Amino acid sequence: MSSDPDCIFCRIVSGTIPCRKVHEDAEILAFHDAHPLAPVHFLIIPKHHVASLLECDDSHRDVLGRILALAGRLAVAQGADDGFRTIINTGRVGGQEVYHLHAHILGGHERLPRMLSRT
Ligand code: 5GP
Ligand code: ZN
Repeated sequence: MSSDPDCIFCRIVSGTIPCRKVHEDAEILAFHDAHPLAPVHFLIIPKHHVASLLECDDSHRDVLGRILALAGRLAVAQGADDGFRTIINTGRVGGQEVYHLHAHILGGHERLPRMLSRT
């Protein structure tokens, strides 16, 4: 399915729901997270609907590669020029809330907390 009318990120792609864009091209949209968890926090998504990494296969290789290949340049442009974190939450165990694949890019100038606590 290339677009899901019930999907909030598909509606952002179509412009029905506004966003603060970081980047847009034919295949990819990047926009600031509505509830940022760091000074720099934006999402990079494929424009075509795919729910999560669990639904990806070889046909998604190009777009997945492009998402990661764009991350560094977009992060630096947003001011995260000394490193950042990339998170892709997947499914129930991964804590995914929006079921349209997205990579979180988080950064700023302070070191981010540990990714997971040991407790
Ligand atoms: P997840 O937990 O699925 O990895 O993350 C979903 C993210 O999407 C959350 O960080 C949440 O703040 C963000 N988000 C949810 N709805 C919207 C929205 O309508 N606009 C924007 N810009 N971000 C959203
Ligand atoms: Zn979608």
